[in-house]
Amino acid sequence: MKRTKKVEFELADSLHKQWLDYSSKHDINKDIEPLYPLLNDPLAITRTEAQILDALYNATLVVLESTPQLDSEQKTRALYFSYNLCSCDACQKECGAHINKKGQIRISQKLFLNKLLSPPPAGLLELMYTILHQMLHGIFPELDEQTITEKTEQAWKSGMAKLAKEKLNS
Ligand SMILES: [Zn+2]
Ligand SMILES: [Zn+2]
Repeated sequence: MKRTKKVEFELADSLHKQWLDYSSKHDINKDIEPLYPLLNDPLAITRTEAQILDALYNATLVVLESTPQLDSEQKTRALYFSYNLCSCDACQKECGAHINKKGQIRISQKLFLNKLLSPPPAGLLELMYTILHQMLHGIFPELDEQTITEKTEQAWKSGMAKLAKEKLNS
């Protein structure tokens, strides 16, 4: 029997709602500060979409690396994921992102371009938050959406706090 790979499609709307829930409780302007050197002005017009995604993905990995919520084995798993912008049927419609069993993260190109249009830093942070959420789905494929949503919030918050502290001490 051939095992079909389960693909988790996530609605752009519900991803956006998760971000709104988070950002209503926290001062996201504080979050962007330690990230400036990492993001290195990804909105510069000379950058391609792929370069912007690279910068955001790498910055998200740093947040993931910084969180004390995950052990090193779990963090290492995220390093093997691949990522791309996606314009599959679902992503051209309502889907914001998906990840399959092979750890291939797909960020809807439509969502991506939409977020780049929103005023920085919120749009960039929201994209990173979405990427982190997909990474956690990949690290914990057995967990349900609500648990992953909670883990995303915890990992983001603690990762950002650690980054900010490191910046103060450097
Ligand atoms: Zn897609
Ligand atoms: Zn999810």
